[in-house]
Amino acid sequence: MSRFLPGRASGGGAAQVRAAESVPVAERLRVTQYLRVAAIGLLLLCAALAPEALSPGRRQAVLTTVGYAAIVLCGEGLSRILRERVVVLFSALLIIDGLWLAWASYVTGSLSSPVRYLVLLHLGAVALLASYRTGLKLALWHSLLLLAAYNGQQQPGGWLTPTEPEELDNLLGGDQTRLAVFVVVLWLVAVSTSALSAVNERELRRRRHDLEALTDLAESLERTADSASVARTLLDSVVDTFGFPRGVVLAGPEGQLPLLASYGLEEETARRPGRPAGSAVIMQAHETHATVLVSGLDDDADPWLARLLPNARNLVVVPLQAEGRPLGAMVLEQAANEGGRIQRRVVSGLERSASYAALALRNAWLLEQVQRLAATDGLTKIANRRTFESTLEREVARATRSAEHLSLVMIDIDHFKRLNDEHGHQAGDEVLRNVAAALSCECRDFDTAARYGGEEFAVVLPGCGPDEARLIAERLRHAVAAAPSTVPITASAGVATYPAHAGDADTLVRAADDALYESKRAGRDRTTVSAGVPPEAQVDALLRRAVTQRLGRHRPENDAMEAPSAPAPRAGAS
Ligand code: GH3
Ligand code: MG
Ligand code: MG
Repeated sequence: MSRFLPGRASGGGAAQVRAAESVPVAERLRVTQYLRVAAIGLLLLCAALAPEALSPGRRQAVLTTVGYAAIVLCGEGLSRILRERVVVLFSALLIIDGLWLAWASYVTGSLSSPVRYLVLLHLGAVALLASYRTGLKLALWHSLLLLAAYNGQQQPGGWLTPTEPEELDNLLGGDQTRLAVFVVVLWLVAVSTSALSAVNERELRRRRHDLEALTDLAESLERTADSASVARTLLDSVVDTFGFPRGVVLAGPEGQLPLLASYGLEEETARRPGRPAGSAVIMQAHETHATVLVSGLDDDADPWLARLLPNARNLVVVPLQAEGRPLGAMVLEQAANEGGRIQRRVVSGLERSASYAALALRNAWLLEQVQRLAATDGLTKIANRRTFESTLEREVARATRSAEHLSLVMIDIDHFKRLNDEHGHQAGDEVLRNVAAALSCECRDFDTAARYGGEEFAVVLPGCGPDEARLIAERLRHAVAAAPSTVPITASAGVATYPAHAGDADTLVRAADDALYESKRAGRDRTTVSAGVPPEAQVDALLRRAVTQRLGRHRPENDAMEAPSAPAPRAGAS
């Protein structure tokens, strides 16, 4: 027996099953139950008001209908029990509908019975309500029942007594023709309503798919913390949902358009995108606050986009805006087979995704700004003491792991108080800013220059032994002396190296500070290399580390401090 499954519109797979759930089976069952009650009411009303229309088997039709009504009632009760497996009941009731309609048609005059119209109504309603497949299966079921009833009456001594009035025999070319006409009408109704149903289903499925993609995007965006991941998440989502072959997200907090994420670009272009520049199409999208469709790019008006997406055709430029402020744009190239046409549904999906991502981008930038502010010194804009301390801890752990040296240079401006007193604090601030800039310039990429406090600076030098660090400290001191200043300034420096002079970050700072003090004591404007912290301070450091580990508060990188391989001091280390 064929099973009528609502919503299994095309093929299997998770997408279809999820689409079928867009209108739950229980909901569909409820509507078909209302239709059944209406059909039963209509037939009973017809039997009461126009009995001759249902002759010769009016009594039988009424009795069958009462029996059918009882089954429908039972079905209603069962639907509350079955819950999850209500789809079986839905199918079973459709089969019973067919049987009832076929029998009621037969007893009330076969092909001349008015119940035929109910068959057509049933077919159309179910095809629209369930799915086009269900509609076609039901059409087959009704046709089979019709043919069975016809055959049963046709054969002499057949299993059914003929019920059709004899005077109709000569009308419309006989009952065979009427049967054929009715079956054709029945299939016309089935095919047309099923086609309509298929279109609706496909649209529903697409919309559901788009909605799910949007929900997934919103969930993924919640997990992203930085602007690059937001852009990547957005691009991945729209490429997955709508299948664009190439795309870029260009956005920056200050209105510039750096490349944040790309898809389908040449490897070299993605790795080295070049310098961002303005874009006429993106500006147009911002001005109109709407998606712009362009067939190609003008190299002069859009040099940046033209470089990223060479020979691009049919581009969709979706503006990224948060609270009316332009942040950038998502630019996508349509697949070649789309021929420049894009569905309204796709554009609105892109715009909705872009508006979610724009908010996430703005939040990510705010967070990045707060993190930057928390890590930098307000006056000099270089790393602050907190960043210095965490960097030093991290670098000590790294030096232990890789058995390399790590040096620290502490630099203090000489007689700075005098400069302040004689030229004012604002002049002092300016000197501090210039000194910080000079130190940053003089550092290598992987060194960290920080303001340790007041007019004292610290520079972390990974991979440097004492000799090299002394040379660098001298270079740094000269850079400080050369920095623009109201009056000529000099600086003193202290150098200490891990593990030659200290056993951990704290003792390294202490060793460098002691060396700096030594420079001051010896007359300033010089560099002193640490003689190493006293043994008791080293023991203190070891004890502190052991206690920290015991309490289980040590960070993972500190584990590296326990690495079995001891760092190999370089030649010349004291
Ligand atoms: P020494 O050669 O021994 O280092 O002498 P010094 O005058 O540099 O050292 P001292 O520690 O006595 O004075 C440091 C001065 O730095 C005191 C303070 O007024 C000044 N200072 C600290 N922070 C700032 C700042 O943010 N701006 C300005 N303009 N001055 C600051
Ligand atoms: Mg000083
Ligand atoms: Mg000082």
